[in-house]
Amino acid sequence: MEKTNELYRGKAKTVYETSDPDRLILHFRNDTSAFDGEKVAQLDRKGMVNNKFNAFIMQKLEEAGIPTQVDRLISDDEALVKRLEMLPIECVVRNIAAGSICRRLGVEEGLTLNPPTFEFFLKNDELHDPMINEYHIRSFGWGEDEHIEQMKKLTFQVNDVLKALFDEAGLLLVDYKLEFGLYKGEIVLGDEFTPDGCRLWDKETRQKLDKDRFRQGLGGVVEAYEEVAHRLNVPLD
Ligand code: UDP
Repeated sequence: MEKTNELYRGKAKTVYETSDPDRLILHFRNDTSAFDGEKVAQLDRKGMVNNKFNAFIMQKLEEAGIPTQVDRLISDDEALVKRLEMLPIECVVRNIAAGSICRRLGVEEGLTLNPPTFEFFLKNDELHDPMINEYHIRSFGWGEDEHIEQMKKLTFQVNDVLKALFDEAGLLLVDYKLEFGLYKGEIVLGDEFTPDGCRLWDKETRQKLDKDRFRQGLGGVVEAYEEVAHRLNVPLD
């Protein structure tokens, strides 16, 4: 499948159209960003690691019956995916408090959330991705009732599958963000699942092995992503 033209350039991925109107190519770049694009850097190998990591995780989710966008890898840093009509919504599940929930609710990082909690955010950098609720989604027409229900159901299913997968690799799945789109009217998981969009801590030491290393200037960002990939037996070469 050949790229035809660039459709959209995001902060870390570029999306290309192909000769097939139902397929896109995602190019995972080495660019990384945080704080709504205020902090940026280029990290060697990140595009390759995230592309392969994402394909591996999406395959695991497919096997568990969760519909995903990914068809297959087409190069080290590119994947062929279904063309979705994306909903401008981020779905976040948290097993342990970290990041924005600590700032918003004044809770300590590391607090176990039982049961896990769920939040919707609007995808809008200018507004700093504000938290929204289901009424906002319906009133502003960002999604319909059945989309909301399906996104919640699938996001929690992802938690069951991935918490177990990461646990076996000695990792805690602290939280993660998912984005969904419509493919022929059905809700399908799009975007990516990589250490850029989740928090993963070592089970024993609680060492951070995700994008917080970049956000917090801890260094060893790609090395941490590679460590996670290695523990999950993701083939990187
Ligand atoms: N997240 C993301 N993109 C965003 C906002 C959040 O991938 O634009 C991920 C983030 O990496 C974390 C989870 O969603 O795994 C929850 O993020 P949080 O709300 O704590 O925001 P942050 O602390 O990243 O500002």
